[in-house]
This record gives sequence, C-alpha cells and structure tokens, in this order.
Amino acid sequence: MLRRIPSVDELLQQRVLAELSQRIGRESLVALARGVLAELRTGVATVRGRKTLANPAAAFEVAAIEARIADEAERLLTGSLRGVINATGVVLHTNLGRAPISAVVAERIGRIATRYSNLEYDLDAGARGARDVHTSRPISLLCGAEAAIVVNNNAAAVYLVLAALARGGEAIVSRGELIEIGDGFRIPEIMAQSGANLREVGTTNRTRLADYERAINKNTRIILRVHRSNFKIVGFAAQPELKELCALGRRKRIPVYEDLGSGCLADLRGFGVEEPVVRESFAAGADIVSFSGDKLLGGPQAGIIAGRADLVAKIRRHPMFRALRVDKLTIAALDSVLGHYIIGTLDEVPILRMIRASTAEIGERANRFVAELAQRLPADAAKLEVRDANSVVGGGSTPGQSLPTRAIAVRGTRHSAKELETRLRRPAKGTPVIARVEKNLVWIDLRTVFAEQEADLANALVWALGE
Ligand SMILES: *Cc1c(COP(=O)(O)O)cnc(C)c1O
Repeated sequence: MLRRIPSVDELLQQRVLAELSQRIGRESLVALARGVLAELRTGVATVRGRKTLANPAAAFEVAAIEARIADEAERLLTGSLRGVINATGVVLHTNLGRAPISAVVAERIGRIATRYSNLEYDLDAGARGARDVHTSRPISLLCGAEAAIVVNNNAAAVYLVLAALARGGEAIVSRGELIEIGDGFRIPEIMAQSGANLREVGTTNRTRLADYERAINKNTRIILRVHRSNFKIVGFAAQPELKELCALGRRKRIPVYEDLGSGCLADLRGFGVEEPVVRESFAAGADIVSFSGDKLLGGPQAGIIAGRADLVAKIRRHPMFRALRVDKLTIAALDSVLGHYIIGTLDEVPILRMIRASTAEIGERANRFVAELAQRLPADAAKLEVRDANSVVGGGSTPGQSLPTRAIAVRGTRHSAKELETRLRRPAKGTPVIARVEKNLVWIDLRTVFAEQEADLANALVWALGE
C-alpha cells in the first residue's frame, strides 16, 4: 500500500491539482500535498506485531489523495473563518462571534487600518501621545467614571485589576460569586495568577455585609464584587447592595471593584433585559468597574476598566498592561460604537436593534418571509408555521431571562429535523445557516437574522428542504 503512494510530482500533474496551481502558489500546494501524504503514511499502525493500515485502501487511490489535497487547498483559499446566518435567536452567541458591528463601524476600522493614524501621536503638541486618549474620554463620559483604559477582553481586565491593586494582599469575595464564565475562566484561578490571595466570605446563597466587615484586616487590598452574569441563585438568598458594600469600603479605605461582565451602557430594562447599567455602579460608589466590549455594549472584543483616576493610573502602570492592551483596530471600533451611544443612535448598534425589536415587528417579518418562501417550495416539501417562541440575549448575560419572539417552525417532509439542521449548516453553496432544533422542528428566529440576509436564508431553506 505504502509503495503505491504516488510522488508529489506525480500528484501535482493530476488535472484538478494542476488547475489549482494556477490559483494557489506552487510552494503551498507542495506543502499541502506533503502533509496529506505524511498523514497517509503515519496511518500505518502496528497491531500484534504486524503492520496494518489505519486508513482504508480507498484512501490510497490517486484520485482520493488528489481530492483530499484539493479540499484542503480550497479551504485555505477561502479562509476557514466565514460569515454565517444566525437564525438561533441568541443575540450574543459566543460561538458565532458574539456582537456583530455595524457597517459604519466596520468602515471606520477600514479607514484607520489602511492608513497611518495618530494612534500614539499628539497632533496639537507634535509629540508622542497615548493610545488611551481615544477611548478614555467617551467611556468616562458614558459611564460617569473619572478615567478608563482598554485591554484585550474582560478576563484580562479582571486579571490586571487584581494584579495591579491586590497582589501580595487579600481580595475579599463572596462565596456566591466565585464563578466560572466558560473556557476555563474561573475567579479563584485568575486570582491565583494575579498574585492576590482569595479571601472567601459568606456562603453560596447568603453573604451579609458583616461577613465582609469581619474579613477586613491589614492585608486587605480590595473588595471584589462579581456580577452573576450567567447563573441565578434563587430561593433563600441574600447579598448586600453594592451601595452598602461601597460605603463599607469607603469607611475602611478599601477600594471596591465590580466585575460587571455584560457592561450595559444603555438601560434595556424596558425591553425585558434585566441587566445593571454601568453608570449605576459608579452612582452606588464603586471605585473600579470592568466589563466586556462585545457583550451588551455591542462592540469589538475588549475589556474596559473604568473608575477612579488614581486607581486606573496605577493599573495602567502595571507591566502587564503592555501585554494586554488592544490594537488600533479595536480602538477604532470601540470609539466608533461609543459614538452611537453619545449621539443616541442606539438602533445603529446591531445587537441593540435586535434586542429592542418588538414581537410584532419580528412576527410581520416572519409572516412575509414564510409567504414568499412557500411560493418557491413544492407544496409537499415542508410545513411552515410562525409561532410564539423565545429569543435569548446569551453570551453570558441575562440568565433565566428571554425575549418573546415569533419564530418560524419548519417541518421538512424529506428530512428529519436533525438532518435539516445539518443541511442548513453545511449547504452545497452559499452561507451556512445556524438554526435550533426543538420538538422535532427546526426553528428560525429572524430576530438575529439581518434583513439583507433574508434572501440567502430563503435560498438555503429551499435547497435544504429539497431532495
Ligand atoms: C463575560 C464575563 C467575563 C469575561 O469577559 P470576556 O470579555 O469574555 O473576557 C468576566 N466576568 C464576568 C462576570 C463576565 O460575565
């Protein structure tokens, strides 16, 4: 079998690969071919002292090898990161890139990215400037903070705040807030990495102000409050108000830091999203607050640290800041998104428009979509129905809450719901569609589908419901 493996030269003379070499550099193609051949060779295993093939014999056919190389080359040419249609109704879908940004913001990124900029240049003084100025002013203004800096994400923000303000000392946290966010982000572990010693107080369900007060000693550096972004404690539960905690901190001269996670800048409670607004944390007396740029703020991935000027300056001076800072593309995006908040054009922030869309509006879109789709489908291909359902904000925010929506329940006659979901996700051509399967139906929630994606979505459904 191994002797039958063709040489790289022989392979590159095959029709498909010869054609591909017009579109992809020869060196890349050779490297791809070598990689595939190496995989085939290592597919030989020794079982009970005898060499056997882990690959089926068919994998050694020249045509099969050629197809495999071509497949990998095509994937390299198109790039594996691609756009998808999010029909799940999960607005901040962590696996689908969290917050999409508006075209205005994308244009701004493009303008800054493709030219030189005053990223770290003070145009008035004609001298070196700081990159922080571009974001610090709008963030401070919108949050009611004295100063702000931006790092790679909120996980980095938590680490940096603790490292800069509590290293070698104690950080007090309630046992009800020792959370895991996902992907290995756990407060106790971040705390250990930062060099701060975790001082747990209270119990899982109840922590009193007196618990914090009793724990304060000469080694206490910070009181940390972590917003319960992705879970709820219900029943016999209590925790002090942030205001009370801040009053205690002030009395004992201990800074209070709130990790807010979701970072809501606009009040969304009128739209069924029960999330605290950043400004309220400062009104309650918090000294430092950190939150994500790509959760409810609706901007790029970033971690925002805002608060008292002296503390922010101290965090800014920490040597790790340089390792965690953001690049000009993120600054351009953030600055541009914050502009929407300052001007008050909240519907220009895609996730805010999605969250604030009414059930009636989504229902009308769904009815229109179904009517048009039905005309393109054979009468017996599917049953389409617009029904009451729930969207969620997601992305580690608003646990246990949902937004009422009108979703399209799809039942295909030729495919099961699971098959249909797979076909939508892996279409022969066009944009992949991510949809939910529930009660043996595929659910399409237009809340998270952009209007300009509807034609692609319809094409995908027509194809997926077909033979
Ligand atoms: C989401 C979240 C984080 C992590 O933020 P990223 O921007 O995803 O790194 C940290 N703390 C809380 C409370 C969160 O909700």
